[in-house]
Amino acid sequence: MDLINWFLEAVARRAPVSIQVEGTRYLIGSIGVFLLIWVALHKPLAARKIRKPTPRTKQIRRELSYSALTIVIFMLMGVFVYEGAASGVFKFYSDVGEYGWTYLVFSIALLAVFHDAYFYWTHRLIHHPKLFRHFHAVHHRSVNPTPFTAYSFNPGEAAVNFMVIPLYALIVPVHDIATLIYMWLMIVRNALGHSGYELMPKGWTRNPWLNWSTTITHHDMHHEKMTGNYALYFTWWDRWMGTEHADYHARFDKAVGAAPQTPKGAVIPAE
Ligand SMILES: [Zn+2]
Ligand SMILES: [Zn+2]
Repeated sequence: MDLINWFLEAVARRAPVSIQVEGTRYLIGSIGVFLLIWVALHKPLAARKIRKPTPRTKQIRRELSYSALTIVIFMLMGVFVYEGAASGVFKFYSDVGEYGWTYLVFSIALLAVFHDAYFYWTHRLIHHPKLFRHFHAVHHRSVNPTPFTAYSFNPGEAAVNFMVIPLYALIVPVHDIATLIYMWLMIVRNALGHSGYELMPKGWTRNPWLNWSTTITHHDMHHEKMTGNYALYFTWWDRWMGTEHADYHARFDKAVGAAPQTPKGAVIPAE
């Protein structure tokens, strides 16, 4: 009973900040991407639509209701993080002078690398037949994703995804501003990744200086095929583990309107 009282009291105390952080992040991030890509730019980007048809309103309605549930879970779990931070469990810090600006920027990049590995392996885990229905089926109901698929999760998957920053902050010192910047980058990249439009320039996946970064087509193919291309930001893990789709380059080329190429890079002559 004491624990319930403590939790309710903590929720009441932390709710204003939690709603501000999670609510505005989702509203501005996800709805912002929707308005930008699906409303303002859908005509100029028409040739970049990865797959037809455009998902129906019914799908978006379902995604929004699951997203609301995800936000509530993030807020409730956030209460524990705020309380933990206040009692010094995590290595969050607020004085930039403690480690300097260079470290602050480095800690964001390192968090992205950590998150990518965390996402790859937890993602593969929740694709296990025994876990899929309980943890990941909701996300995959969106076979052709929309910016709102970004937060459309089973509650269990939402909880797993939430844990990445607290786990990182248990080990690595991370400034409050770095945390906020990363949380914003995360939602915008996630919504863009589900936007259904390829936004990267032609030749991206074949350029060794660029192809370490995933494209929109990369995750779009994961939704289409329900398997492979498991990673989030970087192509490393899928390549190391042999889970990248063999036709990834060809599908990216098609999405950006580039001429199809042989694996060696020679352009196939038109028939
Ligand atoms: Zn999946
Ligand atoms: Zn997805």
